[in-house]
Amino acid sequence: MVVKSEDGQQLRSFRFKDEDQSQEVRAVERRILLETLANQLPTESVRFSSKLANIETSENGATLLQLTDGTQILAKIVVACDGIRSPVAKWMGFSDPKYVGHCSFRGLGVYDGGQPFEPRVNYVYGRGIRAGYVPVSPTKVYWFVCFNSPSLGPRVTDPSILKQQAKDLVKNWPSDLLNLIDITPDETLSKTPLVDRWNWPGISPGPSRGSVVLVGDAWHPMTPNLGQGACCALEDSVVLARKLAAAIESGPSSTAIDEAFRSYGEERWPRVFPLTIRANVVGSLLQWENPVVCGVRNRVVIPKLVRLGPMLEHTDFECEPLVSAK
Ligand SMILES: Cc1cc2nc3c(=O)[nH]c(=O)nc-3n(C[C@H](O)[C@H](O)[C@H](O)COP(=O)(O)OP(=O)(O)OC[C@H]3O[C@@H](n4cnc5c(N)ncnc54)[C@H](O)[C@@H]3O)c2cc1C
Repeated sequence: MVVKSEDGQQLRSFRFKDEDQSQEVRAVERRILLETLANQLPTESVRFSSKLANIETSENGATLLQLTDGTQILAKIVVACDGIRSPVAKWMGFSDPKYVGHCSFRGLGVYDGGQPFEPRVNYVYGRGIRAGYVPVSPTKVYWFVCFNSPSLGPRVTDPSILKQQAKDLVKNWPSDLLNLIDITPDETLSKTPLVDRWNWPGISPGPSRGSVVLVGDAWHPMTPNLGQGACCALEDSVVLARKLAAAIESGPSSTAIDEAFRSYGEERWPRVFPLTIRANVVGSLLQWENPVVCGVRNRVVIPKLVRLGPMLEHTDFECEPLVSAK
């Protein structure tokens, strides 16, 4: 990883393995992850572009899902992984996630002849703005620019305006970053307001209601400052799948399913709740604007004080083999 200030000065450079033997960074393109997961399932079991319009419990305890194309599905079990604006979470009584005061531009630069970067994470810290870029394949490089914005402002979807806004934020920053934004195809560009929700025990509902259970951002939206949101969604899925499989194998009674959901919530809450708060606090610190504080950060904290090993412990999760060898 290389950390620079906005004027291009290198503040720190290190290898994750030197900080902590167990650590490494893997950048994975979302499309590749989704295709890899979908390819593990029988083709006919996945239906794309199925937007949920309404959800309700039917008289026999099953769940009726109505899609916007008019399709109705009566489901014995619903695992809702429908993201930060989850209509299922809303139906279960969760409040809307809260805007934390900063937004992020993101994109995927494509170099048809091969990307020029070394396999490392690059961070650039400014005042109230930070950016990063990392290669995700021999031809693609992911980047982001995160900036303070007390209000959300008008919703902009025109990619040329989004690109210009992103470039304006970092206009005198290292040219690598600006070139990367320039060559980013429109369809990969987005601007996202960062939000989270602190699911306090006793105040927020649990992750399940009847035969419906939440996974990932739908349950615990967190800011991306620790890079753990998608990782946690995958962890949720592994834990839930194991518990549900055991419940179904034991004869799928509603009591066994209830117990699987309860045990899933109990196991996952202590992992995701502290991470949500920590990601929020880290984000607030990283978005500092004060010039004196930023000067101390660049001259003392990043080069001399930060020890990444202990700060990365939250990424440790023992997944164990996913498919038992029989
Ligand atoms: C700027 C930024 C950087 C990030 N960086 C990282 C990182 O480095 N590492 C990391 O682990 N995480 C990162 N994250 C977080 C990560 O993107 C999310 O945590 C992750 O995508 C959550 O996965 P999910 O499956 O729960 O939700 P999503 O990926 O949001 O998927 C939800 C799905 O539900 C669908 N959906 C929504 N509404 C409906 C509906 N009504 N009917 C049917 N389907 C619906 C959506 O179309 C979508 O396909 C980042 C997030 C942001 C904003």
